[in-house]
Amino acid sequence: MAKRGVIIVAGGSGRRMGGALPKQFMMLDNEPILARSINRMHEALPAAEIVVVLPEEHVELWKNIAARFDVARHKIALGGKERFHSVKNGLAALSDEVAIVGIHDAVRPLTSKKLIIKLFLEAENSTAVIPVVAPIDSYRIVEGDDSRIIDRSALRMVQTPQVFQAEALRKAYEQPFSSTFTDDASVMEAAGHKVTLVEGERENIKITTPSDMLIAEAIINAES
Ligand code: C5P
Repeated sequence: MAKRGVIIVAGGSGRRMGGALPKQFMMLDNEPILARSINRMHEALPAAEIVVVLPEEHVELWKNIAARFDVARHKIALGGKERFHSVKNGLAALSDEVAIVGIHDAVRPLTSKKLIIKLFLEAENSTAVIPVVAPIDSYRIVEGDDSRIIDRSALRMVQTPQVFQAEALRKAYEQPFSSTFTDDASVMEAAGHKVTLVEGERENIKITTPSDMLIAEAIINAES
């Protein structure tokens, strides 16, 4: 089987949550969020190489936290200016034999093993595979003082892990940075690759605000 790798990006400062502790280090049901994200990936793909990308100022903090919990083996790479640069550093830390790479937000600790495996299997045959869910809210485009509804049925919300064939991904990350690169699929698309959509999971939330912590706790309680 193709050798698999996982890059978990926690290279941002996570300021939106407020408070001193970045959200990936916060406790969710007695386990740090980042530990949960790493362990989910390891449970789904026990042979995968895992790289965690952290800003330099968080490395010692994370090592101290990780020493106190059961966290699957992982390497640490340093974060960059933008997410793009953090992923690039993560890619450089993976060994050359890795043929399929999943890139995952550190703050999505609730992805199911089933979804992770489904995405990696699909990436055996597709260059770029991403999980998406249909929006439930209505969306409007705001133009100055006016706004108009947009066709919700044409929209999808994009999640992670996004999974790619490593050779194409490494090449795509040689492009110069563009501010339109908001995720890895956008980088692959700019390099000319087609992006394959797979049905994601509503529970696969990105913990961003304090209320997301409450939702995540409820999801964990429902799981157990
Ligand atoms: O800013 P946003 O919420 O879109 O970030 C998505 C993910 O990318 C987060 O996990 C964040 O830690 C990561 N990131 C990074 N390096 C940066 C900026 C964001 O790894 N310079």
